[in-house]
Amino acid sequence: MAKAVMTAPREDAWQVALRQFQIAADMLGLKRGVRDLLAHPKRELTVNFPVKLEDGSVRVFTGYRVHHTTVPGPTKGGIRYHPDVTLNEVRALAMWMTWKCAVVGLPYGGAKGGVICNPKELSLGELEHLTRRYATEISMLIGPESDIPAPDVGTTPRIMAWIMDTYSMHRGYSVPAVVTGKPLSIGGSQGRVEATGRGCMIVAREAAKHIGMPLAGARVVVQGYGNVGSIAAMLLHEQGCKIVAASDSGGGVHNPKGLDPADLLRHKEHTGSVVGYRGTDAVTNDDLLELPCEILVPSALEGQITKDNAERIKARMVVEGANGPTTPEADEILRDRKVFVVPDILANAGGVVVSYFEWVQDLQSFFWTEEEINERLERIMVRSFREVLETSQEREVHMRSGALVRAVTRLNDALLTRGIYP
Ligand code: NAD
Repeated sequence: MAKAVMTAPREDAWQVALRQFQIAADMLGLKRGVRDLLAHPKRELTVNFPVKLEDGSVRVFTGYRVHHTTVPGPTKGGIRYHPDVTLNEVRALAMWMTWKCAVVGLPYGGAKGGVICNPKELSLGELEHLTRRYATEISMLIGPESDIPAPDVGTTPRIMAWIMDTYSMHRGYSVPAVVTGKPLSIGGSQGRVEATGRGCMIVAREAAKHIGMPLAGARVVVQGYGNVGSIAAMLLHEQGCKIVAASDSGGGVHNPKGLDPADLLRHKEHTGSVVGYRGTDAVTNDDLLELPCEILVPSALEGQITKDNAERIKARMVVEGANGPTTPEADEILRDRKVFVVPDILANAGGVVVSYFEWVQDLQSFFWTEEEINERLERIMVRSFREVLETSQEREVHMRSGALVRAVTRLNDALLTRGIYP
């Protein structure tokens, strides 16, 4: 059995997000007022609400919904169910959503939501009650024209369906466009479940071309074998990569000869964890990051690659499936060591791109085929990768700063064009 997972306290995600933003703001010489505005979330809602549990008791849960900015349009961002959710984490994730949407050219500001809970400890009925109550509590903020949630860590298409249904019941008619990442039967989009992992694969492929590294035979390590990590692993495997290690909150598994990612997912679905998969050795989440490989795909939580382990990362390329896995100090170390990092706000943008497609399809009640979705996703991801690469080369900065400079420039332009009310 692998040892328990990462126990070290993670760096405050909001401080990390602010530092990244200040670096880009300095590069751009951003005006003080704009800088101050973008360094503050526009609005934050905290809700404490009761849920009746199956044993008859009542437990009070705390949840959040944060809008970072509404300057580009309605806000968009996932909802996280995890015991470690904090307001600062939700703030950081909302800010990163703003940059992500701007990097790939979507007409959204960033948002994020979260509930402090462990979904694995709740029955299906309790999860439904919690979700419907949370959706009701934040209903003053969400809506197809104002704020459109989506899945994140610990939330699923089924949970999105409950949110859509709850909102629709309150309105008196069906409002599929209030949330994305829904099941197909109620207005979900083809390709949404795979979209984030598919985007990771596309940028990994483009990055491999750029650094002249063949994907065939490239060893891949995936931290966090959930929606993003497992799909990225399977699609990279299709490209000829060798998946050598993967993990989840229970621990990790390693086989230097390679493992079958689809079979590993079946094992996880069957047993609840990747741990114990046949033909593998146990590895902790910390050690997994330092395994020899060509491509490292952190797809779990923030603050995994820090100044404490960045020197020991052996990958040639890091593709950030997760939001915020690398701290600014680690970014510098990785750059000095010539590790090519595809930053989160580009690498995992495939999810929000197809969420945008889902929203557009729901609003027009006209649906596209999977081929159309995947083609459009491919075009946007390839174009965005090239644009970020160009900016980082022009400014001689790493890809994260290149991406942030592009994103902050877009926000600055929109803000100055709209002007300050009144
Ligand atoms: P998920 O809940 O489907 O999967 C998360 C995985 O990470 C699970 O396997 C879980 O066991 C594992 N995990 C949790 N804590 C861990 C820990 N301490 N160490 C190792 N593994 C741990 O979530 P997801 O939707 O795949 O999201 C993963 C990451 O990708 C998050 O950072 C999320 O914000 C980001 N992301 C998700 C999407 C999306 O569309 N789902 C889009 C963009 C970014």
